[in-house]
Amino acid sequence: MDATLAPRDPRAPGQFGRAVAVPSSKQEEAKSRWKEGNFNVYLSDMIPVDRAIADTRPAGCSDQQVHNDLPTTTIIMCFVDEVWSTLLRSVHSVLSRSPPSLIEEIILVDDFSTKEHLKGKLDQYMSQFPKVKILHLKERHGLIRARLAGARIAKGSVLTFLDSHVECNVGWLEPLLERVRLSRTKVACPVIEVISDKDMSYMTVDNFQRGIFTWPMNFGWSQIPQEIIEKNKIKETDVIRCPVMAGGLFSIDRKYFFELGTYDPGLDVWGGENMELSFKVWMCGGEIEIVPCSRVGHIFRNDNPYSFPKDRVRTVERNLARVAEVWLDEYKELFYGHAYHLVLKHLDVGNLTQQIQLRKKLQCKSFRWYLENVYPDLDAPLVKASGLLRNVGLAKCITVENTRLALEVCDVNNKHQQFNYTWLRRIQHGELCIMPSGATVVLRPCRAGSPSMAWLHRALVALQTQLRDHLVTERLQKSACLEVGPSHKALRVGACDSTNPQQKWQFGSYHAD
Ligand code: UDP
Ligand code: MN
Repeated sequence: MDATLAPRDPRAPGQFGRAVAVPSSKQEEAKSRWKEGNFNVYLSDMIPVDRAIADTRPAGCSDQQVHNDLPTTTIIMCFVDEVWSTLLRSVHSVLSRSPPSLIEEIILVDDFSTKEHLKGKLDQYMSQFPKVKILHLKERHGLIRARLAGARIAKGSVLTFLDSHVECNVGWLEPLLERVRLSRTKVACPVIEVISDKDMSYMTVDNFQRGIFTWPMNFGWSQIPQEIIEKNKIKETDVIRCPVMAGGLFSIDRKYFFELGTYDPGLDVWGGENMELSFKVWMCGGEIEIVPCSRVGHIFRNDNPYSFPKDRVRTVERNLARVAEVWLDEYKELFYGHAYHLVLKHLDVGNLTQQIQLRKKLQCKSFRWYLENVYPDLDAPLVKASGLLRNVGLAKCITVENTRLALEVCDVNNKHQQFNYTWLRRIQHGELCIMPSGATVVLRPCRAGSPSMAWLHRALVALQTQLRDHLVTERLQKSACLEVGPSHKALRVGACDSTNPQQKWQFGSYHAD
């Protein structure tokens, strides 16, 4: 289904998703309007709001059958200072390419925009579509809480979240709702295609992409390897299980969304909410899927065109740290280890009691379970290195004797010679950590006094490469290195000397760089 407002003009700019060029006389104007949305706003305004786009679905999708009792959905589209023509094109693409019987309503959540066209003019324009409702928020909620405001008033059995600069393609909705109908704990995501920010052309993307993350919780796309596709005979139309969702576009059963406790409402403005919901869904019994027969174009931009009430980077970091604290269990050290500046900053993540209680109440599984069952290909060693800690010059190993440290002949079977080098840069023996104390070194419970327990080792970025094998402590202003004392039995710290082999150390095995 692909309805139009008026007979289609095949020569209209951007028609059929074609690229548009800015006329040379309008270059200046186009350039100056770019910042209104961080994409080519001038071109967007030239393109019909109900343009056709190529049907990019894989072969076979249009023949797929769906049940005739699919649930209805509420479309929730949040925006702050969205460009007029782009917002209209988003709404029209939903109205023109969705079976009306499946759309309960379209809720536009105006997140306290500052632009005049998003107030009375928008209300006026949308009044011709009875299904479109507009919620003007009285203060800036941020994307996460704005979505929740929309969800609270939604009446459809399924919530479908969309960004405000999208174009839904032919047949986009039915396969999403079909998945949710199959199981109410399935969260269905369309394939996100690309509307060029420069020429507004509609471009398809490679098939077989999964949503993944890398440390410290950066979202990304990852192609399923060809041999896995062949071995498992995965077809282009098969749904793809995703460790994490991109976040902007998805359908979820409304009651299930509330059972899951929605998003953590303590997340601010933008960022990390896709991680939070993904972990929550997988660990608490649901699934996240990309549905290849559902395709929605999205304008990807280099920068958010709206302001952040607080600093953007800090906001996202704080959101991610909240997610790590609630969901990552012992693996949160990997997050902090890859974003070590957060440890030094003593970031305040706010109160987590409710989120932790929720996880208990829902009886969610562990993050280890998630890694083993949902994302086994993630490289996630719990410590950076482990085993014996051998001095290169002396060829002896650090040994715990009662509560003191000594150097003895190395013995892999000696429990007292086992150390972990952790993501938080600690040299840990059970619950005890090696730390400098004056010129000597002592063992102390690891929880207390974190920065003074940190040792740098094989950290190329932070150190001159000559100190790669050293264990460098950075207490006070000066750095110092772990070394063998004159008796050859005790340990101490001394001025770093890249040539001194008695300052070089090696762990039994290394699990990460
Ligand atoms: N948004 C919002 N309030 C905010 C930030 C964003 O309503 O404080 C809306 C924004 O207008 C967009 C959606 O949330 O429709 C997602 O934001 P954006 O497109 O900037 O994220 P991206 O697609 O770049 O990840
Ligand atoms: Mn977006």
